[in-house]
Amino acid sequence: LEEPEGKLWRATEDYAPDAKNPARINATLLALVRNEELEGMLQSMHDLERTWNSKFNYPWTFFNDVPFSPEFKKKTQAATKAECRYEVIPKEHWAVPSWINNDLYKESVKILKENDIQYADMLSYHQMCRWNSGLFYKHPAMEHMQYYWRVEPKVHFFCDVDYDVFRYMQDRNKTYGFTVTIYDAPKSIPTLWPETEKFIAQHPEYLHPNNAQQWLTDKTRRPEHWQQANGYSTCHFWTNFEIADMSFWRSKVYEDYFNHLDRAGGFFYERWGDAPVHSIALGLFEDKSKIHWFRDIGYQHIPFFNCPNSPKCSGCTKGKFYDGEPFLQKEDCRPNWFKYAH
Ligand code: GDP
Ligand code: MN
Repeated sequence: LEEPEGKLWRATEDYAPDAKNPARINATLLALVRNEELEGMLQSMHDLERTWNSKFNYPWTFFNDVPFSPEFKKKTQAATKAECRYEVIPKEHWAVPSWINNDLYKESVKILKENDIQYADMLSYHQMCRWNSGLFYKHPAMEHMQYYWRVEPKVHFFCDVDYDVFRYMQDRNKTYGFTVTIYDAPKSIPTLWPETEKFIAQHPEYLHPNNAQQWLTDKTRRPEHWQQANGYSTCHFWTNFEIADMSFWRSKVYEDYFNHLDRAGGFFYERWGDAPVHSIALGLFEDKSKIHWFRDIGYQHIPFFNCPNSPKCSGCTKGKFYDGEPFLQKEDCRPNWFKYAH
């Protein structure tokens, strides 16, 4: 994962906050967060403001299923010179869909728990994954926005980034940017790939000619994952960080795919995450050359890191991927991405 010193930084000089490109583009920092997570949110904001946003002042848009408290608003606004917006999610975007059967949901949770699936019995976690998969960009406050950078509470940013990443996305015609890819718990998504195959059979024309299907279906590195997920490697972009163009989520292809999955019920009967859902959609229906690894954005969400070997970074161990038990190293599936799609 090493890059010759200096190469990357020259490549992005065109996007520095200079007189050439003074205007911001149509983009926002985006955080779904609870009032109780204020301290964690402030920590994430301080890191991202220090390393990047204080040079560009992109607005922050905060989303919540309940109203934000006055304290949350006051303290987050104090953490940035940029505008902050506070939005409540419409009830119909957060509610459990009418076709979900509550008894079946409860039965399903038992099985998920037997399989040690984290958060299986937390209904709000299922709702959150569904909202992040197919609803956030439909919020009225996002209607006129094109790009977003998703930020969670308690994450860290380690490197000075001196160019406008949104302008970079736009000028290079990128759809999606990530920092980390990892394997998922296969038992959280046993029917996600089978449902996807049904969808492709109905819409073979939706597959992009330059897709990353081989990346999604690799069975060589973690055969037991591939087997338990019924044909999907489980490798996914870790969506607690994502920088993306919402045009893709708003396309008919993705809308049809999301609706298909939503009807199938796996956001509740299993524990489908927005990470595998976004990753499978991108890997099948988008041109893989429009997906960008932001190797230069040092990032941590417990327990994984993207820590570049660059003088612009401090606070993380260069090249280190995980914090904790050594077995975590094998969760890194970026080599798969490089093999099939980079
Ligand atoms: P993990 O990263 O998978 O362990 O899940 P998190 O607990 O970090 O949740 C993912 C993101 O969704 C975070 O930004 C949370 O703040 C947010 N989130 C999760 N559940 C809820 C919820 O019920 N309400 C709100 N407002 N935010 C939530
Ligand atoms: Mn998190």
